[in-house]
Amino acid sequence: MKPVDMKSLINYVALKILGGSDYLVQALEEYLVNGEGPAIVAHRYNISKHQLRGYAQRIIEKSGSEIRAKKLIPILKEMSSGIKPIVNRDENGVYTCTVCNTVIAREDAEEHVRKYHKDVLTLTIKDMMEKLDEIKAKKEKPVIFTSAS
Ligand SMILES: [Zn+2]
Repeated sequence: MKPVDMKSLINYVALKILGGSDYLVQALEEYLVNGEGPAIVAHRYNISKHQLRGYAQRIIEKSGSEIRAKKLIPILKEMSSGIKPIVNRDENGVYTCTVCNTVIAREDAEEHVRKYHKDVLTLTIKDMMEKLDEIKAKKEKPVIFTSAS
């Protein structure tokens, strides 16, 4: 089995959220972890079934397997809580970058973040890595107690 590419996973999720797809992890949890139908979940977040399956596929690839992806999604959710997109979509479907106040096409949102706001992306990834360490530390505690008793 392929190892988990955590760095790549974090990078992917961070870029998606900053680019305005802040529903990503939630949608994947509903679809992959809770087993809701792809049509229902896709409709809820105003994306196509094809997009939703594409996101799931990328996460599974980076996780190494579907079982691992299912375990990692709640962790990714915890890691990414509090991260706000810098690209916002208004009620007319117009995407605007809130950092440089530029209107961008939906399909260019992530590329825009990567190209012009690498500092924000780097900071977000660092933040998620730190949260991952906190989550790991929390998880290790019960193990220590068990071995001590
Ligand atoms: Zn910008």
